[in-house]
Amino acid sequence: MSAGFSWIRAEPHGIHIRPADCWIDPSRPVERALVTHGHADHARGGHGQTIATPATLAIMELRYQTREGATPVAYGETIRLPGGVDATYIPAGHVLGSAQILLEHAGERVVVTGDYKRVPDPTCPPFEVTPCDVFITEATFGLPVFCHPPVAEEIGKLTHALADHPERCVLVGAYALGKAQRLIAELRAAGHRDPIYLHGAMERMCRLYEDFGVDLGELRLVSEHKKDEMRGAIVVCPPSALNDRWSRRLPDPITAMASGWMRVRQRARQRMVELPLVISDHADWGELTRTIEEVDPAETWITHGREEALLRWCQLHQRRARALALVGYEDEDD
Ligand SMILES: [Zn+2]
Ligand SMILES: [Zn+2]
Repeated sequence: MSAGFSWIRAEPHGIHIRPADCWIDPSRPVERALVTHGHADHARGGHGQTIATPATLAIMELRYQTREGATPVAYGETIRLPGGVDATYIPAGHVLGSAQILLEHAGERVVVTGDYKRVPDPTCPPFEVTPCDVFITEATFGLPVFCHPPVAEEIGKLTHALADHPERCVLVGAYALGKAQRLIAELRAAGHRDPIYLHGAMERMCRLYEDFGVDLGELRLVSEHKKDEMRGAIVVCPPSALNDRWSRRLPDPITAMASGWMRVRQRARQRMVELPLVISDHADWGELTRTIEEVDPAETWITHGREEALLRWCQLHQRRARALALVGYEDEDD
């Protein structure tokens, strides 16, 4: 523990803002939580008060069926917490509603990124570099081997597979919050106008994105259409549905998956994925290190993911850094 910044502390189940007695992304219910985004390992239910962006609160309401204690805060808005701590929510570019949280207290500035990425995403505003003293960063893909290719390349693989097999369909496994909607929005941006078919489990989250102004084009539910109608179409489902009985209703699907983990061949094989698409909502190694350089903090604290390599990189570049041992954050089904 460094001498300064004693007002903020990493505990096993979250980051504690001591003068305010608030927690950031706590992994167990607390009186007052600041939530960076809606993914399950960051946004848990059961808090007394939840402070988050309107989109994140809507996502949590969809998940937990309650809005109790919800306090919305817009991007760029600063709220005063107890104990004289100011919190400002800043776009993180990860998924709809995702925010970094800037905390200011006693003349010190701390930024907690939550999850983030630097490449453009049509479904959310871009990450903003925010100068600070302590930068608390994720490290999900914190190994040099992780270098995400341009998304247009991966979208091209998908549309080519479709064009080459007009009698089949391409079934893409994609995480239901964020990845599915980004994949669809990127397809639309690439000029794909045909209806896209959805597994029933994706419908409500896609509608929520549309309610927040993200245009996803014509979406249809697989359950409401005949097999033959889906020939030559793209079908999106949660990763868990890729190889289950449900997919038998589809016309000879080519199995694809959109995930940063598709860089790892073994993971693609485990899921029996024929067409791995390396599309990630997290910063890759280059983005993580570039962001630390651009933010240029006095100290970098590393939360969940591959902490060791990023810690080593900081040391090699004469940057003060430490890895936090937080519990309850899994490898996101990115
Ligand atoms: Zn996330
Ligand atoms: Zn995460």
